[in-house]
Amino acid sequence: MKQDLPQGSIAAKCVDLTYEGLGVCKEGGNVIFVEGMFPGDEGEIKIAYRRAGQLYGELTKLTKPSPDRIDPLCKVCHACGGCSFQQYGYPAQLKFKQKLVQEQFRKIAHNEVQPLPTLGMDKPYFYRNKVQMPFCLGDKGNMYCGFYKENTHVIVPIQKCFIEDERCEAILDALKILMKIYQVLPYDELSGTGVLRHAVIKTSYYYKEIMVILVMNTSDFPNREPFIKDLLGKCPEITTLVLNVNKSSGSKILGEEIQTLYGRGYIQDDLCGLHFQISAKSFYQTNPLMTEKLYKTAMDFAELTPTDVVFDAYSGIGTIGLIAAKSVAKVISVEIVPEAVEDAKKNAERNGITNFEVYAADASSYIYQLFTAKQKVDVLFMDPPRKGSDERFLKAVKTLRPSRVIYVSCNPSTLARDRAFLSDTYKVSRLQPVDLFPQTPHVETVCELSLRNADKH
Ligand code: SAH
Repeated sequence: MKQDLPQGSIAAKCVDLTYEGLGVCKEGGNVIFVEGMFPGDEGEIKIAYRRAGQLYGELTKLTKPSPDRIDPLCKVCHACGGCSFQQYGYPAQLKFKQKLVQEQFRKIAHNEVQPLPTLGMDKPYFYRNKVQMPFCLGDKGNMYCGFYKENTHVIVPIQKCFIEDERCEAILDALKILMKIYQVLPYDELSGTGVLRHAVIKTSYYYKEIMVILVMNTSDFPNREPFIKDLLGKCPEITTLVLNVNKSSGSKILGEEIQTLYGRGYIQDDLCGLHFQISAKSFYQTNPLMTEKLYKTAMDFAELTPTDVVFDAYSGIGTIGLIAAKSVAKVISVEIVPEAVEDAKKNAERNGITNFEVYAADASSYIYQLFTAKQKVDVLFMDPPRKGSDERFLKAVKTLRPSRVIYVSCNPSTLARDRAFLSDTYKVSRLQPVDLFPQTPHVETVCELSLRNADKH
């Protein structure tokens, strides 16, 4: 309740950051989390709310800025929340991410190694190859697009985003104009009116290829044919246009149904010297330059040899397994999204790789098949989504006993949890944070786990 909260202005100094990137202030016996405050900042704060017993404050006046503070390029970064670190200098961001990984591992027992310094970008802007924008209706029938303000469904309109591929801006502008002309209205979840839920744009780094996915709540939207024709006419850089129908009420962006309206239905890109196709529903890392560093780190840690059998779990379009394939005897991959598995098969063909198998299945079920078939596995690459892996999968890993496990993770806390589960069998050898998400508190980590007692079977 509001009246329980400390009232008035409080002078506060920020001493730390949470893993979500909120400033931590310790004042009057209270710990207060403040968005937009960074270690070293001093200012006046107001307590805004209490959640789960924890106080959250708002910065009302910055009286002494932290030496790590910089002027953000984006003037709406406070409101949007998509890149809350734009005001925090890049060297400090990289240190924060190293400390974040260290802290998550410290909280659990048996941490033998410290994370290496975070690998960062030379130019940490305009890196994202994937944009997902919801739209809303503004004054005079004009359309806006933007990001949902953190933890809300309120759209903060954005004209220019400083972390996205700059080629997306013109396409979003064209969409806004054509939506107004053809009355293709943004979907409003409260009233259930309108049709366009999101525009998703995927760009290729090495090729002049761009995919636009129109996520609609119907395949039969108003003025469909002239809208599509004019969009392609205004934006000749679009090499494929896809319609995705999503009628669900959840927050998942893509629905099941896919129709290719123009082009091949996928884009191509290169990574670590190989050539990949990426279709609408397939996962592909969003920072192409840093993905190469991530995979190179994973390969270096794996120390692959020509007789190795590799298992690549949560394999997406097959990137990690295919990059490993040239150095080993055989790669077996598993991925749950059937479209990504189709991409992976095509990607093996395209690159002339024949020692590669990929299966569409849940990783935790599939790993038992390997075990039943008495399949030897020397190296396991695992790259699960943010929620991490599960105990079924990890139990099977302990029985399968690959000599090295290379765990690639976009969430240090689930990585540390899963590593703790494996700690009786595996020790951490190397830990490398890689910054795929500059200007945000997120980080990828490559963790090398080695069998504690390689001889015991
Ligand atoms: N290694 C890939 C993909 C990593 S993202 C790359 O670097 O590009 C995680 C992948 O795990 C996604 O492709 C997702 O579809 C897949 N996935 C999620 N849950 C899964 C499960 N239970 N079993 C197998 N794959 C799963």
